[in-house]
Amino acid sequence: MNLILLGPPGAGKGTQAKWLEDHYGILQLSTGDMLRSEVASGSELGEQAKEVMEMGGLVSDELILNMIFSRMKHSNYKSGCILDGFPRTTPQAEALDKMLVENDIKIDHVIEMRVDDEAMVERITGRYTCSECGMGYHDSFKKPKVEEVCDNCGGIEFVRRADDNTETVRSRLSNYHEQTEPIISYYGDKGILRSVDGMQAIDEVTKQLKRVIG
Ligand code: ADP
Ligand code: ADP
Ligand code: ZN
Repeated sequence: MNLILLGPPGAGKGTQAKWLEDHYGILQLSTGDMLRSEVASGSELGEQAKEVMEMGGLVSDELILNMIFSRMKHSNYKSGCILDGFPRTTPQAEALDKMLVENDIKIDHVIEMRVDDEAMVERITGRYTCSECGMGYHDSFKKPKVEEVCDNCGGIEFVRRADDNTETVRSRLSNYHEQTEPIISYYGDKGILRSVDGMQAIDEVTKQLKRVIG
């Protein structure tokens, strides 16, 4: 099964993708995570993306497409994947379609996570992740069960993203409305679009996803 999760920064894509991975045995492919590891490794690709990411802009379609397609063709993803953070522009959605046809891959569901912009500011500024396993947390909405210890791996180091601050959130949200939102109707026209109410609590959103996917 192949899924696309659509929604602005903070909508809960990464959080739900982790649950979907465990539940359906498919792997998350996050272009944001891939870019951050390129930046961390100091690769040429990372160098090209770093500044744009820090300012809350979008990395060029060409760079993203090369990066994601080479990964999607890897055998690890044959049983399916959850695309998180991709596609983000109409050219990316069109290029994805072309690649899917050429490789005989089908997208089963495109799921839009509907949320209010105002709530996203608090979600983004309170977000942090376990440095060891990447599990996501929130200062108010998802604290580890034991303070400062990761539920998933027992890790005790956590990181915050350089771009998760009030200054960049606004431009990331406006990029979403301008560049990404148009692809919602693109998938609506294809009849594979579903939506969930992302303003509900994390567990409730998970339940809705389960209902939508079946
Ligand atoms: P995205 O991948 O869409 O940018 P995340 O899954 O990283 O979003 O979620 C952003 C932040 O909000 C994280 O700190 C996460 O723990 C928290 N969060 C995710 N879903 C919810 C929810 N339904 N209600 C409250 N907080 C949430
Ligand atoms: P969020 O869901 O919080 O917006 P991501 O982790 O998906 O964050 O992306 C972080 C940053 O990486 C984006 O702000 C953008 O600069 C870049 N990025 C990620 N995916 C794409 C994409 N498909 N196209 C262009 N830029 C991207
Ligand atoms: Zn962990």
